[in-house]
Amino acid sequence: MAITRDDVLKALSTVTVDRGGTKLPGSGRLSQVVIDAGGRVMFSISVDPSEAERFEPIRREAEGRVLALPGVSSVLASLTSERPNAPAPAAPRQSGAAPVPPRQGNALPGVRHIVAVASGKGGVGKSTTACNLALALRAQGLKVGLLDADIYGPSVPKLLGLSGKPRVIEGRTLEPMEAYGLKAMSIGFLIEPESAMIWRGPMVQSAITQMLRDVAWGDLDVLVVDMPPGTGDAQLTMAQATPLSGAVIVSTPQDLALIDARRGVTMFRKVSVPILGVIENMATFICPKCGHASDIFGHGGARQEAQRLEVPFLGEIPLTMAIRETSDAGRPVVATDPDGPQAKIYRGIAEKLWSNLNGAPAGRAAPKIVIE
Ligand code: ADP
Repeated sequence: MAITRDDVLKALSTVTVDRGGTKLPGSGRLSQVVIDAGGRVMFSISVDPSEAERFEPIRREAEGRVLALPGVSSVLASLTSERPNAPAPAAPRQSGAAPVPPRQGNALPGVRHIVAVASGKGGVGKSTTACNLALALRAQGLKVGLLDADIYGPSVPKLLGLSGKPRVIEGRTLEPMEAYGLKAMSIGFLIEPESAMIWRGPMVQSAITQMLRDVAWGDLDVLVVDMPPGTGDAQLTMAQATPLSGAVIVSTPQDLALIDARRGVTMFRKVSVPILGVIENMATFICPKCGHASDIFGHGGARQEAQRLEVPFLGEIPLTMAIRETSDAGRPVVATDPDGPQAKIYRGIAEKLWSNLNGAPAGRAAPKIVIE
């Protein structure tokens, strides 16, 4: 028999949220309960960020109670903070000199750094950059994962040429998919490409938390997270709820994109996530026939903007046919043409990113020795 909302609420009414014995459904903290046709149940518990630790066992208990109901195939229960915090003081300036400590608290065991790749708006090449950047970090000999958190338009399966479903291991843990030496997870592996998903705020966080925590990532040096584009509430909540070491902002050089990129920087600063750098994508068009370079969208805007915002500038990626064709064909350029000019650019950016994460001064000139 199909599971109903009432069944779920009944199960949840055995979960208390405080010493006074308040039950979860009557606490005002429970979101709407969503049940899909496959018996997947989704809900979230609203908490203040300061209560997250206390509520984690409650979240687990709630999840367990619902999972035990007949007809439930899986449960996505997450803690969300719907109301953003009052803006925290701006994150310390990133000169690249101080190491970024792996974030404490809800850190993912075995994963040293989680880095968000974000953009102020869609279509600037965020996913393409995240994917090639992950591969370029991998080319440095690092253990790297790529988490597609762009649940509105998951593109990692296509970018890495992956299809099929991840294997379930140990109960409800998913094994990440693998391509080109990267471990990868995407909502695109879990839902049918055609199925229209309407994501409500708490569900966004639930899905991402599950892909973060219920996947056997193993030991990773870096987990690159392809964020949903934009700087709305969902993105802010995510930035806050994910134990990020830092964020990278991808922008095209036009003024309009730069305004959005600025919003991205502000968003991460609000939640005290260090900005590891800005990348200018589609900087210059390189003609595939003659190699001539034209600045279709302008050039250098993101570098100037990074300077103005006092965040590191990681580099410029040209607009090339090779990048577009390889990413759309699931054969990312860094993996398939590792000695080519594009791979070299991504590798340079990845090196700066990695040294910013580890505290080495990035892009800083060596001291001049003056002999008098
Ligand atoms: P976003 O994630 O910001 O929405 P995508 O990474 O999906 O953007 O890129 C949008 C389109 O632009 C894709 O077709 C992709 O192949 C192309 N693209 C991205 N970066 C470049 C680049 N540097 N040169 C050429 N095409 C690019």
